[in-house]
Amino acid sequence: MLAEWGMKIQATAPAPGPLACFVKNNERLPFVRDIDNILTNAADVRSADSVETWLARQTTSEDTRASLRTVFRVSNYADDLTKLNARAGLEQITMSRDHGVLYVDGGWQSIVEGLAARARDKGVEIRCGEPMTDLTALGGSKIILAVPPFEVERLTGNKFEGLVPVKMSALTLGLRRLPEGSALFALGVDRPLYLSVHSSWARVAPEGAALVHLGTYGGGPREELEQFADLLLPNWRGEAEVVQFLPTMMVMYGMPTPAGRPEVNALGEDILIAGDWVGPTGLLGDAATASGLRAASFLAESVAIVLSPQASQYGQSQ
Ligand SMILES: Cc1cc2nc3c(=O)[nH]c(=O)nc-3n(C[C@H](O)[C@H](O)[C@H](O)COP(=O)(O)OP(=O)(O)OC[C@H]3O[C@@H](n4cnc5c(N)ncnc54)[C@H](O)[C@@H]3O)c2cc1C
Repeated sequence: MLAEWGMKIQATAPAPGPLACFVKNNERLPFVRDIDNILTNAADVRSADSVETWLARQTTSEDTRASLRTVFRVSNYADDLTKLNARAGLEQITMSRDHGVLYVDGGWQSIVEGLAARARDKGVEIRCGEPMTDLTALGGSKIILAVPPFEVERLTGNKFEGLVPVKMSALTLGLRRLPEGSALFALGVDRPLYLSVHSSWARVAPEGAALVHLGTYGGGPREELEQFADLLLPNWRGEAEVVQFLPTMMVMYGMPTPAGRPEVNALGEDILIAGDWVGPTGLLGDAATASGLRAASFLAESVAIVLSPQASQYGQSQ
């Protein structure tokens, strides 16, 4: 999609090899690589299934279920698998397996700046630091609100019931160098923890230095992440230049539940909504993009929005 919009992003697929591990009972264990095959080979998904309901039908072994949960968490960011729609969760895993994951040079900021530059080229006016407080001030007859659900509720007075937000605690470490014996990628099996040395693949740190991201799916205390780092990055504290803890980051305003997410035209066809909590397609950034394109397709006849046929089809196809 980004390439289709003329953006060139430098990115690399992570390949931690033997430096990837699972962690259980505070011990490093070998990473089991065929787990995602078990997941994507299973055809037995019903539309009302949550991931936990589906997992319960796949195996009676709690150990296997615990390992399978790690794959759902890392692909979907979701911690509460009793609420995540199993079909959406499995589709996300299949997509990660088939298309791979990319770490972007410069991080997300490169994507944001690239998109902003492309939009300005197309004549879009971007005004930062001016939150919308009153829709009548816009003066237009058709509007897309690409803002969080609580902002849509505040601006329109409409309520969205049943949204399940996904949050995460994040610990970012900027290290002068990566300590010897470090793992490059790790997932907690008995706790919802994540670690990845992003600088091993993407240019996100000065030459020779390391940028490491750790996270607790659903949120958790700083100490737990620091102890996870103690196990996986020996003596990281002696190399730390930057340590940033963000206790409650919003990852997704609304995960796809068995009941589904609101449609882009849930408020009618004059005020459309877009974001990662809207529409039936994709997760995270993909859902925000798909709903944005779908909302734009409602306006395409009344305002000068140019969508390529492929982009339009993506927004409408699922
Ligand atoms: C740690 C972490 C890792 C992630 N990793 C990934 C990943 O690898 N891949 C992926 O696809 N996604 C990832 N995500 C999720 C991704 O960031 C979100 O899904 C995506 O940003 C949601 O887009 P959105 O447009 O719905 O909301 P947002 O990105 O939150 O955009 C909403 C915008 O509305 C603005 N706004 C709010 N109120 C107003 C107002 N009144 N007037 C004007 N503007 C307003 C806000 O400032 C904001 O810029 C990650 C998130 C986190 C926290």
